[in-house]
This record gives sequence, structure tokens and C-alpha cells, in this order.
Amino acid sequence: MTHYTGLIERYRKRLPVSDSTRIISLNEGNTPLIQLQNIPRLIGKEVDIYVKFEGLNPTGSFKDRGMTMAVTKAVEAGSHAIICASTGNTSASAAAYAARAGIRAFVLIPEGKIALGKLAQTLMYDAKIIQISGNFDQGMQLVKEVADHAPVTIVNSINPFRIDGQKTAAFEIVDALGFAPDYHCLPVGNAGNITAYWKGYTEYARDRVCGNLPVMCGYQAAGAAPFVLGEMVDHPETVATAIRIGHPQSWDFAWTAQRESGGWFDKFTDEQILAAQKMLSQFEGIFCEPASATSLAGALHDIGSGKIPEGSKIVCTLTGNGIKDPEIAMMQCADAKPITIDASLDAVKRAILDSL
Ligand SMILES: *Cc1c(COP(=O)(O)O)cnc(C)c1O
Repeated sequence: MTHYTGLIERYRKRLPVSDSTRIISLNEGNTPLIQLQNIPRLIGKEVDIYVKFEGLNPTGSFKDRGMTMAVTKAVEAGSHAIICASTGNTSASAAAYAARAGIRAFVLIPEGKIALGKLAQTLMYDAKIIQISGNFDQGMQLVKEVADHAPVTIVNSINPFRIDGQKTAAFEIVDALGFAPDYHCLPVGNAGNITAYWKGYTEYARDRVCGNLPVMCGYQAAGAAPFVLGEMVDHPETVATAIRIGHPQSWDFAWTAQRESGGWFDKFTDEQILAAQKMLSQFEGIFCEPASATSLAGALHDIGSGKIPEGSKIVCTLTGNGIKDPEIAMMQCADAKPITIDASLDAVKRAILDSL
């Protein structure tokens, strides 16, 4: 029996590491691909929808796939500090892998616009948090400038090793299904992940591990949808803070993925995104964060309109764990207040019978 030690060990042949590289890992990857059982029935469509639940990575998001590679390579190059701009998950992941490696992490976050769980994690992993009174895009610009003036390695997805680590999610999907899906749906913010999945799928197809390629569907929040508008957005706004990005760094790569795969971009309102998040929790028992549910919101819309035809096999990436954003979850369930009763058998019995 082999012990799972992380995605670099599993896909070593396909990643830029050598036998002497010290691997910085928290056993990330190997996340479950879960077939939805109830939602297809509810919408009355003959489709196979699988979700790749990336919220089960060590820090609760897919960012760990890229971070194990980026920090491994930073340490190999002799770096003692890493830096990133973040809407929350990159900072949590960078902080964790820096702790594991024994180096420093600096993170720039937009003040007041980061989910509570992500802030708590980053503090616990002991990163140096720099809050800016600005948004992610301004933080990203500052990080690029400061890296020219200080001995720090950038671990945002403009770091190519991030993309290499994240492409392994596509490998895992093909390895699990035995083929690539017909459609791959995912939320798009900075567009590193859509770039990474396309790289993974095309690499596997080139080497004949799979015979087909998916159509890539990139979904954005209506208030932060530069790919749908075809131009950068200066004041992105959405409840899905992980994709509250108006100036995506992987702009050209994402358009290549869209064009080469015959895919498309679309946008969905905060209400649609939150409805999909609640639906997944309520009907499938899968709790992802708001940004992640954008993939399902998009898939359901495109299945409904027939753009994604019946008979299709669809994978939606659920990028992060719902526990990260307790404030949104509580807001979503404001009407479902817990009841308070006497601590007696009679009262508990009555409470149960009343609700059946
Ligand atoms: C980072 C992130 C995204 C966006 O991924 P990009 O690579 O920036 O497009 C989506 N959802 C969650 C939960 C994230 O953390």
C-alpha cells in the first residue's frame, strides 16, 4: 500500500522537480470527485454532474495545489520570504506553506473584504498581514512593484509554478473518470485556474492519456466580469469575495483556453450564486464558499437553456470550503433560526413531532 504524500510525489514526472528537490507539502490534492445525485433529478435533466471538491485541500481551497509547487521552487532557489496579494485563500495557503518550509510570508489583502475564516487562518499560520485600503487589483500591482525592491518571491498565479501545481486537478479528474468531461465549469477571478486546467487537459490529451478535451466554461460574478465585458473592470463588486477581481492577470491565457476549447464566459448575479451555494448544501450535503458555487450556477443555467445538451458529462470545480465564510452562511440562513426549548424529554419530543 502506498501512502499519499501530496500531488508533487504523485505527478512528479509531469512537474519541474528533481530527485534532490526538497518537497514542501501538506499532502494536498487527491480531492474527491463527487457525482451529484439529487440536483439533476430536481432540474429534470439527463446530465452527469460531478463536483471536484477542492475545499478539502489542507487549507480549504485549490490554492494549495499551486502553493506546494511555488513554495517548493522558492525554497529550492534559496528564497527566505514569499509575498502575495490575495482575496483571502492565496494568503491562507501561502502562510501555511511558508510555515511548513520555515520561511516568512507577507500578504496584502483588501481591508474589510476578506472572509472571516481566511483571515483567522492566515493569522494562525503567522503570516505578516498588510491590509490596504484598496482592492485586490491594487494589491497585485503593489506586490509586483515591491518584488523588484525586496528579496521576496511572488507566489500569486503569475508565478508559473502555481499553474503547474494546479494543472494536476485536471489529471486527477481524468484519472478518476477514465476520460475528460464534455464540459468543465469553473469560477474565474484572476484566471490562473482556468489556465491551469486547460494546461493539464491538453498535456494529458497530447500524451494520449485521454482522447478528448472538455469545453471550458468560465463563469464570473456580474459585478466583476471583465471576460464577459471584454475589458478590465476598475471597481469590481460581488458577495463572492474570492472572485472580486477586475484586472485578471492571466487575461491572454484564459482567452486561449476559451478559444481553443470552443468554450465561453458568462456572468451571474450574487443572488444566482448564493442560490447555487444553498442548493448544493441543502440537496447534496456539499458546503462550498460563494465564489465556488458560481461554477454550478453557470452549469445549471447553461443546462437549462440547452447550451449544454442532455447526455453531457460535466465537471464543476468547487474551489473553496464553505466554512471559510461563516458570515455569508449565517446571512443565507437568517430565517432558519435555531429554536430554544426546556431541557426536558417532553419538550424535545414535541419539537421533533412539530417539525415532521
Ligand atoms: C482564487 C479563487 C478563485 C478564482 O481563481 P482564479 O485562478 O483567480 O481565477 C475562485 N474561487 C475561490 C474560492 C478562490 O479562492
